[in-house]
Amino acid sequence: VSAFANIAQAPEDPILGVTVAYNKDPSPIKVNLGVGAYRTEEGKPLVLNVVRRAEQLLINDPSRVKEYLPITGLADFNKLSAKLILGADSPAIQENRVATVQCLSGTGSLRVGGEFLARHYHQRTIYIPQPTWGNHPKVFTLAGLSVKYYRYYDPATRGLHFHGLMEDLGSAPSGAIVLLHACAHNPTGVDPTLDQWNQIRQLMRSKGLLPFFDSAYQGFASGSLDADAESVRMFVADGGELFAAQSYAKNMGLYGERVGALSIVCKAADVAKRVESQLKLVIRPMYSNPPIHGASIVATILKDRDMYNEWTIELKAMADRIISMRKELFDALRVRGTPGDWSHIIKQIGMFTFTGLNQEQVTFMTKEYHIYMTSDGRISMAGLSSRTVPHLADAIHAAVT
Ligand code: PMP
Repeated sequence: VSAFANIAQAPEDPILGVTVAYNKDPSPIKVNLGVGAYRTEEGKPLVLNVVRRAEQLLINDPSRVKEYLPITGLADFNKLSAKLILGADSPAIQENRVATVQCLSGTGSLRVGGEFLARHYHQRTIYIPQPTWGNHPKVFTLAGLSVKYYRYYDPATRGLHFHGLMEDLGSAPSGAIVLLHACAHNPTGVDPTLDQWNQIRQLMRSKGLLPFFDSAYQGFASGSLDADAESVRMFVADGGELFAAQSYAKNMGLYGERVGALSIVCKAADVAKRVESQLKLVIRPMYSNPPIHGASIVATILKDRDMYNEWTIELKAMADRIISMRKELFDALRVRGTPGDWSHIIKQIGMFTFTGLNQEQVTFMTKEYHIYMTSDGRISMAGLSSRTVPHLADAIHAAVT
């Protein structure tokens, strides 16, 4: 008899489990709007042309070997990643007070940052938005932090609960860590305005709260890499400290390559140096050093002006297709006379629409229309196409009437 005979069956992951259920459904009309992965108008996964070009260059370069990277990853990649999020002319970079380490995509960057904080920071509480990406509370709890929520979304307005957010951060203990989505908040698609960001910044700095930015969608929200990083850059411009976790999963379509970075902006160069030395002690016993291929692709693209430009064009095209799906879905519901105000579909930002559909309606749409999404009513706009919009609109119409 197995030593593990009594092991309990674990539940599927609430997000990735949607794909498991989708794959089991034999229906030809099924649509997967669960996982946040970009699809073409034909419903196919996309490898960017510029990524293919970079991979060709790498393959044809005989000097490339498969040696281990350093614990902190590819040095070029780290420098270029910090520049991408903080801005090429960032004073923090010029003053050498940013410690950047290559990590396993966004998730790994959050986890390494979380463990570093649990070991070295005087406050163990991290405030995360309510709601947030479902993995956040698990990542930070296992990193050794204690998770609390701040109000973020107001179902009544389907917008930001700004005064709740300010009240909750205002009553957080001094020094507490605050997780902020840099742009394209997941799952709500609701971001603060620049003016609101500035008020959040002032409040956080006045209370000594430590910002931890999660940047999983830079460029993917507005189509502009700079515009999508404004929130982060505002917190760098005031000279204060912050953490930033970056992912290249969405904006370069490198999902499975697991490539991302953690940057810690410090007040002085000598602090950044010591911080980096401690990050190595977090990483070494966790996975020794990160993988080489994805980081080489990113570095190849970011350091070549021509490839960088090609990337921004392809990135903008992905962002634009998502925005046009918002319009098409909104129009399709209007044409059907679907009851309710659906303007949030075009107001929300980024990959997802937080539809406001409840769990019962979601179950109905999956059962009757073979449309798969998370039970909170979040749909991935990147998984839609002109071909599938009418089917989705029919399903939503039927679910709410
Ligand atoms: N943060 C947020 C808010 C996300 O939506 C995601 C991806 N779903 C991630 C982090 C991390 O993703 P990855 O590890 O694939 O980069």
